[in-house]
Amino acid sequence: MEKIVFATNNKNKLNEIRDILGSTMHILSLHDINCHEEIPETGATIEENALIKARYVKEKYGYDCFADDTGLEIKSLNNAPGVYSARYAGDEHNSEKNMQKVLDNLKNKTDRSAQFRTCIALIKGDKEYLFEGKIEGKIITEKRGDSGFGYDPIFMPDGYDQTFAELGNNIKNKISHRALAVKKLINFLQDQ
Ligand code: IMP
Repeated sequence: MEKIVFATNNKNKLNEIRDILGSTMHILSLHDINCHEEIPETGATIEENALIKARYVKEKYGYDCFADDTGLEIKSLNNAPGVYSARYAGDEHNSEKNMQKVLDNLKNKTDRSAQFRTCIALIKGDKEYLFEGKIEGKIITEKRGDSGFGYDPIFMPDGYDQTFAELGNNIKNKISHRALAVKKLINFLQDQ
């Protein structure tokens, strides 16, 4: 069976992909290929970061590979935190502090529209491909809901009156930025 690396050790992301592609491709994690080093995410955009991770694995380990990167882009903050979403309030990657910083920075803004954007970079043979998924919505004024992670309690997708954290993973994982990008990747791989 064809082997491909998903440049992550995140169990949820791996399970999601293996559920769909597991019967046609052998999906390996970074752990599976004994890649234990921190892959530098030094890109200025989420596209660059996804490509950096996928190229790192291809060049160092020789496997075909795909990698993802996600950012929350808030219109009235010039698309911040964007590529810096994980470390918006500092290197400790603290979601509570990140959300508080967003809420503080939006205090005097009337436009609270935002989007989550995921980019997946795939390297197959000697070719590189990019797949994008995004979902538009708005940042509400206080946290609501307990499920999910990251900025989920303050992001309300358009067409819903609940945040991602209130909607729960079942609904979120059908409509999310990541789900849309993953769908594009899967369609591409299944057509190959
Ligand atoms: P990553 O590229 O998937 O590691 O995402 C980078 C950062 O974006 C995470 O640390 C979170 O802060 C935020 N993020 C990514 N995806 C989501 C999501 O689905 N909901 C809320 N926050 C997210």
